Amino acid sequence: MSSFLEHRHLELRTEAKAFGAGAEAEHDPVKLVRGLGAAGLLRACVPSEFGGLRERIEVRDLVVARAALGYHSSLVDTMFAMQGLGSYPVTLAGSAAQRRALLPRVVSGEAICAFAITEPEAGSDVSGVKTRASRDGAGWVLDGEKCFISNAGLATDYVVFARTSDDKHRGLSAFLITADNPGLSVTPTELIAPHPIGTVHLRGARVQADALVGEEGGGFALAMSTLDLFRTTVGAAALGMAARARDEAIARVKSRHQFGKPLAEFQLTQVAIAEMHVDVSAATLLVLSAAHKIDLTGQPAAIDAAMAKLFATEAAQRVIDRAVQLFGGAGVVAGCVVERLYREVRALRIYEGTSEIQKLVIARSLLR
Ligand SMILES: Cc1cc2nc3c(=O)[nH]c(=O)nc-3n(C[C@H](O)[C@H](O)[C@H](O)COP(=O)(O)OP(=O)(O)OC[C@H]3O[C@@H](n4cnc5c(N)ncnc54)[C@H](O)[C@@H]3O)c2cc1C
Repeated sequence: MSSFLEHRHLELRTEAKAFGAGAEAEHDPVKLVRGLGAAGLLRACVPSEFGGLRERIEVRDLVVARAALGYHSSLVDTMFAMQGLGSYPVTLAGSAAQRRALLPRVVSGEAICAFAITEPEAGSDVSGVKTRASRDGAGWVLDGEKCFISNAGLATDYVVFARTSDDKHRGLSAFLITADNPGLSVTPTELIAPHPIGTVHLRGARVQADALVGEEGGGFALAMSTLDLFRTTVGAAALGMAARARDEAIARVKSRHQFGKPLAEFQLTQVAIAEMHVDVSAATLLVLSAAHKIDLTGQPAAIDAAMAKLFATEAAQRVIDRAVQLFGGAGVVAGCVVERLYREVRALRIYEGTSEIQKLVIARSLLR
């Protein structure tokens, strides 16, 4: 595992592990962001010029942190990830003023970020975005609706993708909108597992010209570059959750006795444990290899990120399901760790591109 990682990544992993272990019982997402900031972990999400850890964001930092945090709590992992995902369009394409105003506050946890692209009619097909940004003097006015937006209601700063022309791809632009904009309101959505999320309504939301992130018409490319980078890290969160389920299952089968001996002594149990471990190990390798490649080349490699996300999230679902099975009835009792993981892992095969979309990305890349 470590051949892909350097000492600095292992140090960060140790810090993330310690923070994650202490955060398992904390369910307040705002406290978690502030805690991540105070612990210095959010520095991984921002370049050093603005208080971050490295000159350029390293995906290996993001994956070790997400795997370590996801092992303990998917909520703390989500809060960490959203600081990176939500601010990355500004890191990548924002003006100097936007970067100076936002990124140091991302590091401290004072700013909470959201990335708003999905709409009721635009999920997998991002080019279907209908939210419109119309010119309003020197500024813009935005109208539309964004659904399934992580951190909706908690975020201080939203990167919103809106249509500035009818061109399918070149017609999308990104805007930085603060939560206090009178044209922005939120309706929360409740999911099967804790995750701050909701619908963002934009009704005559006026912003100044300097709210545009990057070039007018550059929104689609900006969204894709952001997702290409962060997809690998979703795989990392999944493998953290899978590793936890494997460890919980190992402890359980050693201590639980049936037919006069520990479950661990039955070969069918051993097969399950072995296959779980192979899934976790293979996912780890794909995630680290993708992260390493992106860091070395400085280019998000769409096929590697897609393979890492696809395999790790599907594998995590298998591993966690097997852990529930090995726990028997205890595995479906509310409050049991594997029960929690069973609910929490499901969304990872859907967000930041479903498993089916990852397969299309992989196939297109091979057939090109
Ligand atoms: C927990 C969670 C957090 C999220 N956070 C955010 C966020 O912060 N910001 C944001 O903008 N969005 C967010 N999303 C939205 C997420 O990115 C979308 O749900 C996802 O892209 C899928 O879109 P959809 O739900 O509209 O499904 P659809 O696109 O309607 O897909 C439904 C099914 O059809 C399949 N499908 C679609 N197109 C094809 C095709 N061409 N070939 C084969 N199968 C296809 C899909 O794979 C899926 O199985 C979040 C979602 C969840 C669940």
